[in-house]
Amino acid sequence: MSEPKPSQAVIEDGCIVIRVPISSLPERVSLMCDDISVDPFLVTNAETFAKDVVESLNGQIGTMGGPTPIDILLEEAFQEAAEYGSEGVDDTVKRCEACDEIVTRANAHFCSEDDTYLCKPCAKSISSEAN
Ligand SMILES: [Zn+2]
Repeated sequence: MSEPKPSQAVIEDGCIVIRVPISSLPERVSLMCDDISVDPFLVTNAETFAKDVVESLNGQIGTMGGPTPIDILLEEAFQEAAEYGSEGVDDTVKRCEACDEIVTRANAHFCSEDDTYLCKPCAKSISSEAN
């Protein structure tokens, strides 16, 4: 079996757009079903199946208010882009030990005694409690 036509993410008009050729769905599903842990099925009408796949991607079926498949895909891609050194992120930010707010290095109060970071409001209230 030949490889399905590639799906591709591109930037268009200020949006990330993911293109998946509908004609590739039967082959993609077939490849997925090669995994014996997947309950097998065959795509008999790619156009109809594609409409249902879009509803699933948009969280209109199946997710019960949880994250949509798009949310899950994006979170994975966000983390991977950051891990692989995207120059569009600051990965030196820290989480405040007291309130879990994310603070930039410039705004974090570093406590060298216990090697922790605090946001300025938490650092201020803790230091006023100590006094
Ligand atoms: Zn805080």
